Amino acid sequence: MRKNDIFEIEITGMTDDGRGVGRINGMAVFVPYVIVGETARIVLIKITKTYAVGKLIEVIKPSTYRVRPECSAFYKCGGCALMHMSYEKELEFKRNKVKDCIERIGGFKNFEPSDIVPSPKTERYRNKSQFPVTLEGIGMFAAHSHRLVESDDCLIAGENCRAVIKAVKYWMKSRGISAYDEQSGRGLVRHVCVRQADSGTLVTIVTSKDELPGSDALVDELKSSCPDLSGIIQNINTKKTNVILGSENKTIYGSSYLIDNIGHVKFRISPMSFYQVNRAQTERLYSIAEEFADLKGHETLLDLYCGIGTIGQFMARGAKKIIGVEYTPQAVMDARENAQINNVKNAEYYCGKAELVIRDIIKKGVRPDIAVLDPPRKGCDIKLLNALSEIPTLKKIVYISCKPSTLARDMKILNNLGYIPKKAVPVDMFPGTPHVETVVLMSRNM
Ligand code: SAH
Repeated sequence: MRKNDIFEIEITGMTDDGRGVGRINGMAVFVPYVIVGETARIVLIKITKTYAVGKLIEVIKPSTYRVRPECSAFYKCGGCALMHMSYEKELEFKRNKVKDCIERIGGFKNFEPSDIVPSPKTERYRNKSQFPVTLEGIGMFAAHSHRLVESDDCLIAGENCRAVIKAVKYWMKSRGISAYDEQSGRGLVRHVCVRQADSGTLVTIVTSKDELPGSDALVDELKSSCPDLSGIIQNINTKKTNVILGSENKTIYGSSYLIDNIGHVKFRISPMSFYQVNRAQTERLYSIAEEFADLKGHETLLDLYCGIGTIGQFMARGAKKIIGVEYTPQAVMDARENAQINNVKNAEYYCGKAELVIRDIIKKGVRPDIAVLDPPRKGCDIKLLNALSEIPTLKKIVYISCKPSTLARDMKILNNLGYIPKKAVPVDMFPGTPHVETVVLMSRNM
């Protein structure tokens, strides 16, 4: 087997990131844009000691689940991986991934997740999109790289994005504004971020310096192309880094935050704060978490990794007390403000790392009955899980995860600490992409 060799292979499995897996002489070969059961002609583009990577040349025997991708950027852009299969097949892939991780990594052999909850929208469902700006133009990055795929649109991004990109492009061209070059560190505009909520659209222009020549023209351009524009922020990121946002924000026009409603609660969202990207599906996600929490009114609930306070405030009417912990200071400020907006008087927020702050909370004599955990992809710090298990009153854990493998790892740790998994519901928050959210209930007898 050598690089550039061409083979015909049968696809027998899928990787977690949505690529097909076949075998050549016993070695696993990963191929994007194929479906289990298909036979494909591929060219080998990478060979390592343990696996190879193939590029699809042609599907010889297509799956009945194969569909024509609706997005013109699909085969080039690294954002989505599954638009070549029917939504039904995509959902099956996601549920299998959750089940497989819980079984293989978690070690729970006879534990079946429920059916996956499909997303109400499979296109234009994102309320936040971030477009890199490079010397090549504005668009998206190709998979696992910083090579720009120039595109005026993204099928999973909100309706306004097209108009915003067009307006920014026009402004840059007409005013001679430079794009940032990652290699040399020169140039001004790094990213265009668009966020939409009930109160309107907030556009953030990320720049490498504290200057924005022609900002009046930018405001005019965006106002006329984006009818529900509610604000423009300049975010300054002077560092040579992959992280999109820097720490300084300036409001160029209008409001510096958005307001959105989820079910019966209202949230203020600052540019730096995390907020779920698929709003319609978020309400379902939180409702499942609420159902698992099954609050009776006397409970103290820990909302760990609480962001702007969403989950706890969604559930606050059923609890005696909510204690939120979050490490992004702006998000904590939003959470406190949101508690006031929602007239939630029983919530208290701490800013810091959950794994550290938890000790202070326990020292204060707080005795929570239930914890909601909603960590980022890397999952929870083991110190946090250990600390939770030492709280004698903490009977229930509702774990919301955006990464099945770290969820399964943490479920195993929690199981060793006495918690038994009761239910798991996969929720599709990210159609077209290989990502899947899961809500898990674990409890222990006291
Ligand atoms: N529950 C919220 C946010 C979930 S995203 C919602 O549904 O909207 C995860 C959040 O965890 C982010 O806001 C991130 O800033 C925060 N975070 C990441 N690591 C953390 C840590 N070690 N301790 C506390 N918060 C953390």
